[in-house]
Amino acid sequence: MVSSLREIRGPDLPGAACADLAPAFDLHVAGESAEDRAARLAMAARVCAGCLVVAACRSAVGAAEDGTVAGVWAGEVVEPKRRRPGTLEAS
Ligand code: SF4
Repeated sequence: MVSSLREIRGPDLPGAACADLAPAFDLHVAGESAEDRAARLAMAARVCAGCLVVAACRSAVGAAEDGTVAGVWAGEVVEPKRRRPGTLEAS
């Protein structure tokens, strides 16, 4: 399951500049044009540039190497990682 930042940042990243801005940091918003998406993601990245917890946010996304996060994190657009066909998930 892919998690958005809004599910993680609350108690774990107090002071997050994006705390009340969901779904602006989501990877996709239903019905949004490509131009609107690009503008939204650029706005989100600008918010990150002024965020006081950007280092902690970057660490959080780095720790989530399992590909279960997506959206704008620490100023970067994070795409969910996809498993290669035919591979099994480690348990
Ligand atoms: S760096 Fe960006 S995504 Fe991370 S907590 Fe701050 S505003 Fe949110």
